[in-house]
Amino acid sequence: MKIHEYQAKELFKRFGIPVPKGGVAESSWEAYDVARPLAVDSFVVKAQIHAGGRGKGGGVKIVHSPDEVSQAVDSMLGIRLVTPQTGPEGKLVMKVLVEEAVAISSEIYLAVILDRSQRKPVLMASRSGGMDIEEVAAKTPEKIVLEALDPMLGISAFNARKVAFGLELGSELVRPFTKIAMNLFRLFSELDCSLVEINPLVLTESGDFVALDAKINFDDNGLYRHANIKALRDFHEEEPLEILASRHNIDYVKLDGEIGCMVNGAGLAMATMDIIKECGSMPANFLDIKGGAKTENVVNAFKILMSDQNVKAVLINIFGGIVKCDMVAQGIDEAMNHVDVSVPVVIRLEGTNAAEGTQMLAQSGYPFIIANGLKDAADKVVALLQKASGGS
Ligand code: GDP
Ligand code: MN
Repeated sequence: MKIHEYQAKELFKRFGIPVPKGGVAESSWEAYDVARPLAVDSFVVKAQIHAGGRGKGGGVKIVHSPDEVSQAVDSMLGIRLVTPQTGPEGKLVMKVLVEEAVAISSEIYLAVILDRSQRKPVLMASRSGGMDIEEVAAKTPEKIVLEALDPMLGISAFNARKVAFGLELGSELVRPFTKIAMNLFRLFSELDCSLVEINPLVLTESGDFVALDAKINFDDNGLYRHANIKALRDFHEEEPLEILASRHNIDYVKLDGEIGCMVNGAGLAMATMDIIKECGSMPANFLDIKGGAKTENVVNAFKILMSDQNVKAVLINIFGGIVKCDMVAQGIDEAMNHVDVSVPVVIRLEGTNAAEGTQMLAQSGYPFIIANGLKDAADKVVALLQKASGGS
């Protein structure tokens, strides 16, 4: 789960990481009321969307009076902000963050990421803050300092100091930097994050560190332990079909292809997507129906697939282990009474009672296309798709 910058900064404050003074606003008059008591000469207005690169897209504006803050907010709210990270359709701006502007001396990148190959959280830092870190990693990897941390032991001051030395910070900055890095790791660990990033962590002209930007991603599997974090979820920022799926306990990720997939089991769902690609097409989604593939799940999965305009054919791939294929077949058959399925459906059943299930589907009266094995299923669905889109 992602949250907004203004929410991440509240958490930073709670963990002792310095952030600029300011507050969130949903209208130009609210923004004025946030700006005025700050009593400074320069303000920053920042669009709150779940995407970075706002600086490049016009989503970060520096202005010089509360009135100008109001004007900047008026020009930002309600627009679809396009940044290098949003895609061409952009993201709707519904909130802004208004802050005192900071006089920047230098910008540092600081993050805690999860390195899956090492199976460890890693402290990652660079003097090239404010820039696209992927670009820094690709072009000048020597400018990135990495310090792997033991998940059981956590972070020690010497880990953070090593990073400070790697960045060649002045000796007077080592102690404040160490404190921020340790607090950042504490936040990452205590709140079950998958990523915490400050880009940029700035050194101000008066010699203090301030987190100018804040990005936090949470591990969804840990959210049940943090009701107050779960409450920060902003549904406006999420794919509507993914919200619908999560309400029905279906794991679903929308993708760009035309073949809708309905599979039981995450691993099998991944394999199904792979073989569709191998056969020359693209999956429209990842979908794991989980929960024993009951009728209700199948109905909901079909509803999700049919709500995606891109889906031109469906591939159902079920492996009957604990769940029996004849039960699934019954579920698919019944689902047809509840959902208007307007595209060809290829079904592959394997495992417990596969023969019974397949026979039920063949006799159901619906024009299901029964496949024999995963490769056959993928070949058939790709061929149908090509036929539907006017190919040979
Ligand atoms: P992002 O582009 O979405 O990552 O948004 P950031 O919060 O990182 O802001 C982008 C850039 O705007 C920063 O790298 C800074 O260069 C600039 N910026 C943001 N806030 C301030 C500020 O208070 N003072 C100054 N001088 N620049 C700022
Ligand atoms: Mn940033």
